[in-house]
Amino acid sequence: MAFELPDLPYSYDALEPYMSSKTLHLHHDKHHQTYVTNLNNLIEDTDLKDASLEEIVEASAKDPAKAGIFNNAGQHWNHQLFWRIMKKGGGGQPGGELAKRIDDAFGNFESFKEKFKTAGVTQFGSGWAWLALDGDTLKVVKTSNADNPLTAGMIPILGIDVWEHAYYVDYENRRPEYLAAFLNHMVNWEEVEAELQKAIA
Ligand code: ZN
Repeated sequence: MAFELPDLPYSYDALEPYMSSKTLHLHHDKHHQTYVTNLNNLIEDTDLKDASLEEIVEASAKDPAKAGIFNNAGQHWNHQLFWRIMKKGGGGQPGGELAKRIDDAFGNFESFKEKFKTAGVTQFGSGWAWLALDGDTLKVVKTSNADNPLTAGMIPILGIDVWEHAYYVDYENRRPEYLAAFLNHMVNWEEVEAELQKAIA
């Protein structure tokens, strides 16, 4: 069964001025679509053609012969989470179980934000910064290129794309500004809480 590009859960201008309609059209319609198209082409006629996306990520992660599949499957998974956990008028603070676990893991929400921003800023080259559940504990981690915390046995519940294609149109080389805008104005904390609840269910 071929994978499909999901629609964005908001309009293309919903995240203005923090993420422009131009960026979302390029990033979702072109970059993400390309990962989906490549993935479908690469798994056609292989034993992975009927596997779930998570199964494909796992099966290809440690197999150098499947690097092409891994890169496109990983990026499809990563971008689907990324689109889900943003919204118009996002930012603010998490509540409920998520807020409690962030306090437990990082001391307080501000410390979490600093740690997350640092991970995003210090990821050299392309990649992602994440909030992920490792066993029972939340951790901030960063990964290169298409990799994600699933391959290390963790469950990502929040991720920011720090590939240049995610921010160069709106922020040029100012990645720290993009990270701050993401946390302060774009994160959909209710959705991140829902991801946490799925992960601990
Ligand atoms: Zn991207």
